[in-house]
Amino acid sequence: MILGYVKCTAPNCNEAMEVSQCSGKRSAYLKGRCHVCKCTEQRSNANTQDYLKQHKPLEELNPAPVEQTEELEVLQEAPTEPPKSDTEPKGVSTLFCAGIGAFIGLTLGKAVTVLRAV
Ligand SMILES: [Zn+2]
Repeated sequence: MILGYVKCTAPNCNEAMEVSQCSGKRSAYLKGRCHVCKCTEQRSNANTQDYLKQHKPLEELNPAPVEQTEELEVLQEAPTEPPKSDTEPKGVSTLFCAGIGAFIGLTLGKAVTVLRAV
């Protein structure tokens, strides 16, 4: 089970390293595994263990501005999307509006007729 992530301990590797609990005799220790440089961190010295204990969720470890800009892009894209989908329902909404218009016209007409009648 992955507890969290730390920066890879291998030199020249800044990728996220999975931190998980060792099993068996070493169950008191944490270990790390980096899928990018294929290294594992299994040293049981205090420094390494303290480092591994600082594991964080991946999103926190990589507060990537990339993710944020992606979100922004999505947000910016959103307003441009409606025109696309607008073209199709437009016919429907136009009909709908026309229907409402006709209805209002009829109602008003009736109202006017009623008013005139009164
Ligand atoms: Zn690595």
